Amino acid sequence: MSAKTTNTPASHQPRHDGMESGHHSDPYLQRRKPAQPSTCPDCQATYHDGRWTWDAPEPGGASHRCPACERIRDGVPAGELTLSGTFLAAHANEVMRLVTTTGEHIRQEHPLERLIDSSGDPASGDVLLRFTGIHGTHGIGEALVHAFGGTMEAPYPDAGSIMRASWRRD
Ligand SMILES: [Zn+2]
Repeated sequence: MSAKTTNTPASHQPRHDGMESGHHSDPYLQRRKPAQPSTCPDCQATYHDGRWTWDAPEPGGASHRCPACERIRDGVPAGELTLSGTFLAAHANEVMRLVTTTGEHIRQEHPLERLIDSSGDPASGDVLLRFTGIHGTHGIGEALVHAFGGTMEAPYPDAGSIMRASWRRD
């Protein structure tokens, strides 16, 4: 049983690459800006008007790997969500189906928010889900609570740090 985490501003260390606005800042979003328009060679997401979308590539656009694919390539998730509890084992298929459908819905709406992978067997133990963004991490946890009850903990990480969230129902 882990204690709830609270942010302690006194211990907050400014980061050289962060925008210190009190907002979460993702170092992967602050790398060199893509030319506009650009298309990601890995997932075909397109960048224009300052954001990544699933719009069709524009002819003559540059090639620029999107921040989500950079994270997948580097093996560096922005968030992790651990699923646990006896309910998970008893309803493994329903839980994992909701994870998949909700993850797909979030990906369609927010191209940089993706489920990278899942590990562990829900029928016999915990499952670890890894995400390219913290909103997807939090969103799946919320969807699980909404559908099945249980409790989620998703302490907001410091800028540039990973979100370590959990959902549990017994
Ligand atoms: Zn991509």
